[in-house]
Amino acid sequence: MPTASAPRRTLVTGANRGLGLEFVRQLLARGDHVVATSRHPGRAHALNQLVGEHPGRLHVLPLDAADPKTHAELAREIPLVVDGLDLLINNAGVLHSGERFGQVPPAQLDDSLRTNASGPFLLTQTLAAHLVDGATVANVSSVLGSIASTSGFHTPSYAISKAAQNMATVLLAQALAERGIAVLALHPGWVQTDMGGVGAQVTPAQSVGGLLSVIDAATLADSGRFLDWQGQPLPW
Ligand code: NAP
Repeated sequence: MPTASAPRRTLVTGANRGLGLEFVRQLLARGDHVVATSRHPGRAHALNQLVGEHPGRLHVLPLDAADPKTHAELAREIPLVVDGLDLLINNAGVLHSGERFGQVPPAQLDDSLRTNASGPFLLTQTLAAHLVDGATVANVSSVLGSIASTSGFHTPSYAISKAAQNMATVLLAQALAERGIAVLALHPGWVQTDMGGVGAQVTPAQSVGGLLSVIDAATLADSGRFLDWQGQPLPW
């Protein structure tokens, strides 16, 4: 597994804002080669500015996590920009707020499942051939997907989809173990992004700094674990 100081080739999904953009900033700052994906690269102004500041080290490619056709298109583009991936960060996610029991719209549940659960699972499956042996897959999960911690009817589409994503993490850890690839479920904390809101406790810089430390420290023995941004284990 690469050390904290060794440059890595990393792919980040949902990289145009929030935690994804902060991952890209911190990875570039440490010298990594980054493939940043976004649904609409032409509108990803902050990312495109970083491309100019880091010539040759940042590539912005289209990906809709919820659309497997775009996964296949991305897989065809990857060899044109990097010769392998050391780290895949499945960060893209959606939270449909305001859901009430009896009125959960089927389309929101479906979108949540496709974006947060089947999306990262299928993308990892599609990109597996591009992951180097010993690589790491970091699935950005949420404590709201913890079945054991659930005590009320809150954000059901999001919670159901993140619980399903957690199962995908455990299954992918099993599937990729023979290649030495570790797969982690990571809770970033309650973070000040569009999703977390201004009242959140943690800044994106703190969260991503912590998450990258957890990723750096992870060994194959940690594969299939559910950890928070400070490395603390969470109940499933
Ligand atoms: P955010 O500010 O809302 O950003 C979400 C990102 O995901 C955006 O780049 C968005 O792209 C992208 N995205 C959404 N649906 C997508 C799709 N179908 N395909 C590709 N990209 C898509 O949220 P965030 O706080 O940075 O969240 C990042 C991750 O952390 C998510 O997985 C989230 O569930 C998790 N998380 C966040 C918190 C928190 O407190 N913030 C807590 C726990 C877990 P567009 O601009 O195109 O919409």
